[in-house]
Amino acid sequence: MNICVIGTGYVGLVSGVCFSDAGNKVTCLDIDAQKVENLKNGIIPIYEPGLTELVEKNINEGRLFFTTDYAEGMSDADLVIIAVGTPPKENGEANLQYIEAAARSIAEHLNDYKVIVTKSTVPVGTGAMIKGVIKEVVGHDEFDVASNPEFLREGSAIHDTVNMERAVIGVESEKAEAILKELHAPFTKNIVVTNIETSEMIKYASNAFLATKISFINEVANVCELVGADVTKVAEGMGYDPRIGPQFLNAGIGYGGSCFPKDTSALVKIADQVGYDFKIVKDVEAVNGLQRFKVVDKLVEAFNGDLKDKKIAVLGLAFKPNTDDMRDAPSVDVIPKLQELGADILAYDRIAEKNAKALIPNLRTGDDLYEVIQNSDAILILTEWDEVRELDLEKVSKLVESKVIVDGRNIFDPAHMEENGFYYASIGRKTVT
Ligand code: NAD
Repeated sequence: MNICVIGTGYVGLVSGVCFSDAGNKVTCLDIDAQKVENLKNGIIPIYEPGLTELVEKNINEGRLFFTTDYAEGMSDADLVIIAVGTPPKENGEANLQYIEAAARSIAEHLNDYKVIVTKSTVPVGTGAMIKGVIKEVVGHDEFDVASNPEFLREGSAIHDTVNMERAVIGVESEKAEAILKELHAPFTKNIVVTNIETSEMIKYASNAFLATKISFINEVANVCELVGADVTKVAEGMGYDPRIGPQFLNAGIGYGGSCFPKDTSALVKIADQVGYDFKIVKDVEAVNGLQRFKVVDKLVEAFNGDLKDKKIAVLGLAFKPNTDDMRDAPSVDVIPKLQELGADILAYDRIAEKNAKALIPNLRTGDDLYEVIQNSDAILILTEWDEVRELDLEKVSKLVESKVIVDGRNIFDPAHMEENGFYYASIGRKTVT
């Protein structure tokens, strides 16, 4: 199959490369000329484990191409996949300007029948909008539009694509259905075929449900702290029930990243626009907004209300490990709040620090984990990178005097920390001193 993928971000690039690795000829297209030039030379714009090698392999094997030119990208494509960004507007709605621009460019270069499929996360009705835009330009409807939302997770994006749990296909014609089933056959047996509106809704419902699980366990954690229960054990006890499941029950500083925050607010807006008040998701957002500041409260408590001039070593900046994505990472709110309270912040995150500095004013970072920790008054864990999980606590004990750790990711055992003489505050568990 010949495929043109529009947008070479976290989704478009990974999907395009995986589709090419499965034997398809894929041209990845982006309006960012610098990005495309770099990609042609094997320079990858994002951090995603395994991606550099897979791009190089498929370029060398003659199946993967990059361009900024719609005519070139689309000329022999059977399938055009839209994977451009849909960032949130100020009011929480999805901003569809990039989708609309891509649809217009596609229309201007539509030379024969093609399936135009949207992989970007888009509000219900966007497929119909794209169809309208293209039809208006080309003056006929001898093409198909379809929806194929993406479920990959940054940090394990290649694995998630190659081993996808399901593909969701929203279609209006049997021809489009056949093409999209053929595309996904090497990756999964679970192909959900439905109409475009339902497919668009599946993506928002999935992300909002996952966000709900996180905010739910975080509220349980907050109550655990007040009643002397341990949220990690509560989650373990809950998770054996297959109706609940063990995943996404890790209490912490809440969700961040480029998807959950924007997709929950977009779903609330989608509902609002048809006169429905989506109460649960509104509360999920409110809980999440407060949760990230729990670690600030815990630091304030550790220092009896005064963080002025306290040296805080912040471990991890990205919203989760194995990514450099800083979009809506809790650190973006937490660090300025600590600075406002007078704390002196030095952070460590070799992968995300560059993107973080663009979002957090006056952020100082260090190149070595233990040098960042040395002589700090407290360590604050915001991202559970393997390096942080494997922290040598004995070494830490020798580098700091006050041995205070506030852990937003619950990566250490409080009993073990107590035995080793740490002041250790985590989420939904007893603080040991
Ligand atoms: P991104 O911002 O990383 O990449 C978008 C790319 O599209 C950029 O390179 C940009 O230059 C390009 N672009 C913008 N307008 C264009 C145009 N008119 N023509 C060609 N290229 C254009 O975005 P992303 O994180 O890959 O997300 C893309 C979509 O996938 C979003 O709707 C997002 O919600 C959804 N999604 C993202 C993830 C994720 O983990 N990042 C997971 C599932 C779904």
